[in-house]
Amino acid sequence: DIKIQMKGIAKVFETDELETHALKNIDLTIYAGDYVSISGPSGCGKSTLLSILGLLDMPTDGEYSIEGVKVTELSLDQAAEIRNSKIGFIFQSFNLIDELSVFDNVALPLRYSSEKMSDEAIRSRVDECLKSVDMSHRASHKPNQLSGGQQQRVAIARALVAKPAILLVDEPTGNLDSKSGDQVMDTLEQLNKEGTTICMVTHDPRYADMARTQLKLLDGSILTTPVPAVNVQEAV
Ligand code: ADP
Ligand code: ADP
Repeated sequence: DIKIQMKGIAKVFETDELETHALKNIDLTIYAGDYVSISGPSGCGKSTLLSILGLLDMPTDGEYSIEGVKVTELSLDQAAEIRNSKIGFIFQSFNLIDELSVFDNVALPLRYSSEKMSDEAIRSRVDECLKSVDMSHRASHKPNQLSGGQQQRVAIARALVAKPAILLVDEPTGNLDSKSGDQVMDTLEQLNKEGTTICMVTHDPRYADMARTQLKLLDGSILTTPVPAVNVQEAV
């Protein structure tokens, strides 16, 4: 069961007379239930790849499909609809709304969804997601009453609430101390064991190594052969 398929994806940025080939001929298949990490040095194209995977930007060449839907042929409006229904985002900054409780933050995507859900159904889905990240006991707290690691786990619950095809994760531990970072990584690992498909971008080799499928990006291309250990060190 294929969640994500990219064939020949390229991205060229043109600024003044300068052309930057940020991504070159990327082939990428992500299967249901996989846990993929994409790592590599600064400037190798990680953010660009994640933006395209998350339908925040379009490639300049190639084909991309999510659950069989060819998204590279869609209008921006159609792409936004696919993004809202099929992609869960987790960023380095948690992007929670300070004025809302944990429960209401997680409920937000369902309340704004085009498919109307009953209050009862929303409550049960939000409870389920808070439980899966071990945050049920903080449902009525505000984000600023929580530690960074707890806030990130709430952000993960919010990303899961609409049952996305895939979770796209960008440097999830970048703003956390190492203990909270490890807890967030444990949460992601547990969710993956329960069936969530994850694609994580990180420059941290310790965390990249935790994924089942580890891809290395270098100068806009995915390395297909394992790099010698000494080069891996240099690359990070
Ligand atoms: P990473 O996330 O791995 O640090 P990026 O995807 O941000 O790498 O960048 C890849 C390359 O594309 C870099 O050379 C960067 O300068 C360039 N780039 C990224 N975004 C833009 C943009 N909007 N305009 C011009 N160049 C860009
Ligand atoms: P990260 O360190 O998280 O990979 P970057 O600093 O590489 O993030 O990029 C942050 C954002 O800035 C990205 O969305 C990228 O598209 C944009 N960006 C990166 N390089 C450039 C550039 N040279 N010109 C314009 N935008 C860029």
